[in-house]
Amino acid sequence: MLGIDNIFEVIFFVGFVVGSVIRKVYTFRCRGSKATKKRKSVVDIILIGAAGVGMALPLFYLFLPWLDFADYDLPGWFGCVGTAVFAGAIFLLWRSHADLGRNWSATLQIRQEHSLVTNGIYRYIRHPMYAAHLLWAIAQGLLLENWLAGWAFLVISIPFYLLRAPEEEKMMLEQFGQEYRQYISRTGRIIPRFWR
Ligand code: SAH
Repeated sequence: MLGIDNIFEVIFFVGFVVGSVIRKVYTFRCRGSKATKKRKSVVDIILIGAAGVGMALPLFYLFLPWLDFADYDLPGWFGCVGTAVFAGAIFLLWRSHADLGRNWSATLQIRQEHSLVTNGIYRYIRHPMYAAHLLWAIAQGLLLENWLAGWAFLVISIPFYLLRAPEEEKMMLEQFGQEYRQYISRTGRIIPRFWR
């Protein structure tokens, strides 16, 4: 549908702006922090690009008529659940960026002054930012009544997470050894572990 024309689209758009601002602010704070090790693969780069497209499709959906052919109707409670999930995603995105600080990077990297973060949200879960992406993708599907704009990001986020997390943990194990092994033993990968 052309233009923002229901409350859940308004909620999605506001959340999208808030999430984008969070990412921009923390990306800016990482400037000048150099990488000593990079683990780039073609598949990773393609998936990052595809995830960007999946995240941006809603803007085309909301402001241009191109994706109208894929519209469908959802019951109102989908949007209510989507709102709660989206709020959780944005909270996790914020906390993970705040706790990771200058150790953050879009591709797999070890920074010059990299430290292993095990506090804040990372006390319970090793991949809160990827959890935030997955929750965002689910919320997008629940809030937008369009097969493409709604679900494309989730379709890309799942293989991204499944490929990225093991590769990242391998890199962290090489860098931090026993410290990271112990960290793995007391945290959840994508589901927070509140017990020790
Ligand atoms: N997988 C994490 C971080 C995503 S950003 C999450 O979902 O929250 C990716 C970068 O974060 C990687 O290049 C890695 O160097 C860094 N990283 C991941 N876990 C970290 C940790 N516990 N402490 C410090 N850096 C970490």
